Amino acid sequence: MSAEQKQSTGNGAPNTIAIDGKEIPFEAGQTIMDAAFAAGVYIPHLCHRPGLTPHGSCKLCTVNIDGRSMSSCTMPAVAGQQIENNTESLNAVRKTITQMLFIEGNHICPSCEKTGNCTLQAVAYHLGMLDGHFPQFFPRREVDASHPAVILDRDRCILCELCVRASREVDGKNVFAIAGRGIKAHLIVNSASGKLVDSDLEAGDMAAHICPVGAILIKERGYEVPIGRRTFDLHRVGEIGLEQVVLAKVNRCDE
Ligand code: SF4
Ligand code: SF4
Repeated sequence: MSAEQKQSTGNGAPNTIAIDGKEIPFEAGQTIMDAAFAAGVYIPHLCHRPGLTPHGSCKLCTVNIDGRSMSSCTMPAVAGQQIENNTESLNAVRKTITQMLFIEGNHICPSCEKTGNCTLQAVAYHLGMLDGHFPQFFPRREVDASHPAVILDRDRCILCELCVRASREVDGKNVFAIAGRGIKAHLIVNSASGKLVDSDLEAGDMAAHICPVGAILIKERGYEVPIGRRTFDLHRVGEIGLEQVVLAKVNRCDE
């Protein structure tokens, strides 16, 4: 722990929180997710990426903080918090949320280019999900293949808004948005025609690379990395430092 981290919060308490009984240091301004990430403690999540504004929508990162359920990606770390994360009951809820995400879209992993690199799939494995449990929706959603370099398959979109935030906050554009509410919520493209080809999305944009599932894919890159040698074929989703590997790929937008 650095000298800075050892500083008290001003009321004499050290800048640490406890996650599943493990003392973890934090710095002023960090969320519980930030502090956990820095300490190598995995809290399952789908809609969060360091560097983008926390969204708190997927709810997978919900933890119990002093007996109250809160999203760890939006909750500031406060000295002395006692946090439950990797518990049977929290993981059971996370598994149910993940199952609902699967049945709400059309996820046919063996025929999906994202398989092995997909965070939703990896989280499902992590949580021991063996089936969708609930009846399949089989929604009919529009695929947008109009862009020369990028394809949008809304069947696999989990509405995490990572592309929305990346476009706005990193690319300086406003290519994507969510329209509708509840079961009618869907990803839209901000262009006159509503098609990607008429938007200012470029293949090098972070928004074109950040999708945690196979909803936004770069064209003509199919199976460049063979199945069996992809990120989550080689690493567990909660492995320490793995998120940095994934982020490095996202940030390497010219690859
Ligand atoms: Fe499977 Fe992920 Fe593709 Fe969905 S996006 S079909 S979960 S690999
Ligand atoms: Fe998230 Fe991908 Fe859907 Fe965008 S397209 S909201 S990144 S799942």
